[in-house]
Amino acid sequence: MQGLIMDRPLLISDLLRHADNVSGEREIVTRSVEGPIHRYTYRDAHRRSRQLARALQALDVKLGDRIATLAWNTYRHFEVYYAVSGIGAITHTLNPRLHPTQMAYIVNHAEDSYIFADVNLVPLIEAVTDDMPSIKGVVVMTDRANMPDTTIPNALCYEDLVGAQSDDFEWPEFDENTASSLCYTSGTTGNPKGALYSHRSTIIHAYASALPDVLHMGENEVILPVVPMFHVNAWGIPYGATMVGAKLVFPGPKLDGASIHKLLVDEGVTMTAGVPTIWHLLLNHWREAKTNVPSLKRVIIGGSACPESMVQAFQDEFGTDVRHAWGMTEMSPLGTVSLPKPSMDKPDEILRKQIKQGRPVFGVQMRIVDDDGNELPHDGESFGELHVRGPWITSGYFKMETSDVHGDDGWFATGDVSTLDADGYMEITDRAKDVIKSGGEWISSIELENAAMGHPDVAQAAVIGVPHPKWDERPLLIVVPAAGRTPSHEDLTVYLSDKVAKWWLPDDTILTDELPLGATGKVLKTELREKFGDHTLPDAG
Ligand code: ADP
Repeated sequence: MQGLIMDRPLLISDLLRHADNVSGEREIVTRSVEGPIHRYTYRDAHRRSRQLARALQALDVKLGDRIATLAWNTYRHFEVYYAVSGIGAITHTLNPRLHPTQMAYIVNHAEDSYIFADVNLVPLIEAVTDDMPSIKGVVVMTDRANMPDTTIPNALCYEDLVGAQSDDFEWPEFDENTASSLCYTSGTTGNPKGALYSHRSTIIHAYASALPDVLHMGENEVILPVVPMFHVNAWGIPYGATMVGAKLVFPGPKLDGASIHKLLVDEGVTMTAGVPTIWHLLLNHWREAKTNVPSLKRVIIGGSACPESMVQAFQDEFGTDVRHAWGMTEMSPLGTVSLPKPSMDKPDEILRKQIKQGRPVFGVQMRIVDDDGNELPHDGESFGELHVRGPWITSGYFKMETSDVHGDDGWFATGDVSTLDADGYMEITDRAKDVIKSGGEWISSIELENAAMGHPDVAQAAVIGVPHPKWDERPLLIVVPAAGRTPSHEDLTVYLSDKVAKWWLPDDTILTDELPLGATGKVLKTELREKFGDHTLPDAG
């Protein structure tokens, strides 16, 4: 017997229509690409998104067309999200930190018809205009006065397009399973692959992300997503925040510590989110300027493992709670969030759990399996590849017939190696491809890095496996020292010796000026392996 419930589609346009209705006066503030602070309301955003929707239709954009964006977090990018998906087309976010030829590969694969680009990113498109035959035009996201001189054949002005239309527009209704947005994985192995989200998956993910024990979004929160809208839709915040009518603060292109700090203070931000690399910059700024942000209740840290020292710095030095979260492009991205349980009251135990990637958000199911696909126990010690399934997890890749990570049994193989403990917490020990295998046993590079970053002379740390005649591989520690410091291998080994098993201790340490970062701010282990992979260890020569 079926329930007697209306079959109303879950559509992204309803988020903005709802915010206009019930939180219409709530603000959206942007540090614009042109420089000045721009402020308006959800009502204004809804009106302009309707105008833009009409403009898109005038450009003959249709259901299922892919419309790329090459843009920072701004109110215009927000409008494009809603207008494009709202008419049933697909927002395809491009990462401006990719090499232009890689960007062109992705545009061609997606067969995008237009690109909406921020004015300072136009040169990236100029570099490869001739290599993207599907592109009919580039909409520069600025007003007439700021339009650049450009060699792009069909460059259109965003404000002219919007200004030419009335807001007399009704959002169309269509099947909730219609594709809404497209995001390519960063492709550290092989070519980038497209994760194609639907209206339904986006709305369910938005509900889940707003929950108190997930990102805790509500109307009285002031939310600044530092995580870019081109990195898994800013972790879904532009949807979840709109669902609840939270005040949104968009940082534009300036992501240095001082610029972020100023916006946090000026706008009374209560919650922010981003990758650890960004928080190093902010914490350094706070220390140098001897300041903090009293209104800031929570910082969501994910994308890479959050080191223990970062949790302690935020919480103990500056009074901001840390929520460590884990997810993937293929997961929209939310998978787990690490919060202590009410029954946990010992500070050490709480900190230990916070360092783990956390418990699954309702909707996400998890299992760990060994190399033969056997399920492993949830004892906090056995580790194997993490599999997930759920209503916002991809079932395949865009325009790829087969995928060896989307199993026939309905599970997605994450490529992360992890443990699950009896309390339900998941902890990543490594990406499968980064695991260090020493004498047949695995060493967790993430745990070593985490521990090393607690040393006061260490600013950043990465660990890779290098060949060893007896043990196959042994860990090499690569350290960016804190300003003016030169920690020795011996100092670091002594420091680590009561934090990790003895046989895990790195065989050598290399000091370097910086770690190579990928387009989403993660340390590129592949590059480190290329550079230091043939390093001769002291006792292996
Ligand atoms: P890509 O895999 O393309 O770099 P994603 O943003 O999808 O981009 O990255 C997902 C991966 O990032 C995860 O599979 C995991 O390895 C890593 N990751 C994300 N969050 C965390 C975290 N909190 N701790 C450790 N690793 C993380």
